[in-house]
Amino acid sequence: MLADIGQHKKNMGTARDTLQQKLDADEDIVKVRAPIANPKLPEGHEFADLEMIEPHTLIAYMWNEIGMNIPEESVKAFWNHHRAVNSPWMENFSSVSDLHIPLGLYGDGARARQLAFQPVEKVLGIFISLPLFRPKSTRNSRWCIFSINENLLYGRKTLNAIFRRIVWSLNHLFTGLWPSHGPDNEPLNSPRAGQKFTDAGHRWALCELRGDWVYQKQVLGFNSSWTAGVNKSVCFRCKALGRGDCRTQYYHVHGDNAHSFGREYNLVSFLLNEMPANDICT
Ligand SMILES: [Zn+2]
Repeated sequence: MLADIGQHKKNMGTARDTLQQKLDADEDIVKVRAPIANPKLPEGHEFADLEMIEPHTLIAYMWNEIGMNIPEESVKAFWNHHRAVNSPWMENFSSVSDLHIPLGLYGDGARARQLAFQPVEKVLGIFISLPLFRPKSTRNSRWCIFSINENLLYGRKTLNAIFRRIVWSLNHLFTGLWPSHGPDNEPLNSPRAGQKFTDAGHRWALCELRGDWVYQKQVLGFNSSWTAGVNKSVCFRCKALGRGDCRTQYYHVHGDNAHSFGREYNLVSFLLNEMPANDICT
């Protein structure tokens, strides 16, 4: 395993160089039409072609050209473990096999720069990772598929367009076959359409969604806000307030439950209280 990781690290170095060359040559980059914010326009937004790498293109490249491999035993052990401990996220995973390789999707923002007298520029990145591949340097185990200046996000509509494409791509990784139809169901002429991604017929399943609070608010648009006053909750998992009567405040904890009065939302009350009424998917 250690020797494997050493070899993988070497491959990763090469992978990064090759990936950069590919980016420079504009190969495998797709454009997704999405609304972006433009406060100078009366409607507040315009449409732009945002560039990204689809997860299935990235994963097929990793397996076929870099030689990435996750041993079958590790994959089986992963699923056996989660079945044995009844992991709650496994509830809707009945169609997954013991050989689906776990994938992760992760988002994070970073401060890019600040010009004099200008607001801070932040970049948001979305990354694919392989939870069972853990080289010493985490940098080598996650790959950016999309990035954007956060000032360009038009509500949740911009990321919704990107996520629609990511989901379309991830569904193909789940079946293990190159798409035969595009994201708008248009037939694709590619000679590999409908073919297996790898000769061995590998398939992958998304098992991890990770991101900090800011990212989750950008993606899901919680009603709560950490800057909320007395009318809105400061927590997306309970009704704790940031001000007002001390019994309703976020630091009034009950027993070992960190959420106020021990009343953490269940799925239904979370949807009712936290999810906005508009722009859920569009
Ligand atoms: Zn809470």
